[in-house]
Amino acid sequence: MKGFLQHSLLTSIGVDHGFGTVASSPRPHCLVLRQVHGTQVLSSGECRDRGLSFEGDGLVSVATSDEVGVFTADCLPVLAATESGRVVGAFHAGWRGAAARIVPEGIYRMAHEGQTLPTAFRVVLGPAIGPCCLTVGAEVWEAVASKNPTYSQRQRRTLDLWELVTHQLLEAGVPAENIGRISLCTRCHADLFFSHRGWGARRNGRSMLNYIRPWRDDRGEPR
Ligand SMILES: [Zn+2]
Repeated sequence: MKGFLQHSLLTSIGVDHGFGTVASSPRPHCLVLRQVHGTQVLSSGECRDRGLSFEGDGLVSVATSDEVGVFTADCLPVLAATESGRVVGAFHAGWRGAAARIVPEGIYRMAHEGQTLPTAFRVVLGPAIGPCCLTVGAEVWEAVASKNPTYSQRQRRTLDLWELVTHQLLEAGVPAENIGRISLCTRCHADLFFSHRGWGARRNGRSMLNYIRPWRDDRGEPR
């Protein structure tokens, strides 16, 4: 877990997870898709079948020991688990994916596969470019408004990814007390995180891995 940030909503149910920093150690067994800022969510089984070159921006792991993750460098990483820790998911939401509702898409997939309701989910929004640094134009707001008619934000020169995705999660039925945040702006804290905007060419393709894996007991059995 070296160099990863964690949140008590997930540690308190024993779910191993982490939001990457520049100091994170590699996790070679973590499954990650080729991310394209879309809304495709796959299960870890499908990911294994199709190969890791398959495109998608969310992965769920259902009653397996598969660790799943997403890479980010300013985009919002979202990690979710059911209360039992049997079903987990990792989602990648930049402004395009967030506007197109990748996160509720992933939550519905987890609910369906795990035969459980979103009311039993715990969801944590990780470090991402904050509203302090995410200046946007009218085309971004059109994309947000067209798929999220009930979302509004006091000022429209910037976009708050944490607020937009929280709004979507509440609509999907996740209780407010089960939604957590590590609201550190990746650009303002470019010493801690690889930031697309903060690092520019110096980033050289480097990103942060954000991972989660289903709960297992000492013998490797699910709950
Ligand atoms: Zn900032």
